[in-house]
Amino acid sequence: MEGTSVNAETVHRWLQGAAASMKESRDYLTQLDAAIGDADHGTNMERGFTAVLAKLDAGDAPNAPGPMLIAAGSTLVSTVGGASGPLWGTALRRAGRALGDGDEFDGAQLALALRAALDGVVELGAAEEGDKTMVDSLSPAVRALDESLRSGAAIAEALATAQTAGEEGMRATVPLQAQKGRASYLGERSIGHQDPGATSTALILAALANSVGAES
Ligand code: ADP
Ligand code: MG
Repeated sequence: MEGTSVNAETVHRWLQGAAASMKESRDYLTQLDAAIGDADHGTNMERGFTAVLAKLDAGDAPNAPGPMLIAAGSTLVSTVGGASGPLWGTALRRAGRALGDGDEFDGAQLALALRAALDGVVELGAAEEGDKTMVDSLSPAVRALDESLRSGAAIAEALATAQTAGEEGMRATVPLQAQKGRASYLGERSIGHQDPGATSTALILAALANSVGAES
């Protein structure tokens, strides 16, 4: 059935879209990080995703969705110095491992992969929702994806719902006081600023929704 499965092209389109978005939003993400961190989030994410694209376009790149995501995650870990490199690197590697070696996957498998990504981030960074991190965008998005698919939505529609939930979670970081990462050193002074990692996460989720929406 049209639009009910995603494949290597979808994943490639997702990572390309994410890379373009990181490039376009580099200065904005860095400004957000300047307010409550060390002003490197935009450059970190742009460097990492540019390297991911180079990796995927190399001759020896894997061409199934799972292995592609594992390669992308490993590239982020090795090219991004900040906290976001290991965190997003782990997320993509876990998602890739959850997908296995198949050529195509359906909505339920995609939801499991994103759940595995979130679990990896939480295992590594120990942040809970409300701590003002990328988890505040990723976690509600994964929940919305699960709920939407369970209520019978097609993948593209469920991902659009997840994107919206991720954006709402991103905006909800503004009034929070950071409990994890560099921003937590600021204590109450972190209140009133949007979290940079939640912002890049919402952009990456938007790229995912676009990559699947473009196909169906
Ligand atoms: P660094 O903080 O090392 O400079 P970045 O600026 O690239 O790294 O990334 C900062 C973002 O990383 C934060 O905005 C936050 O969303 C995320 N982050 C930091 N620590 C954690 C953590 N323990 N768990 C989840 N996300 C975290
Ligand atoms: Mg930083």
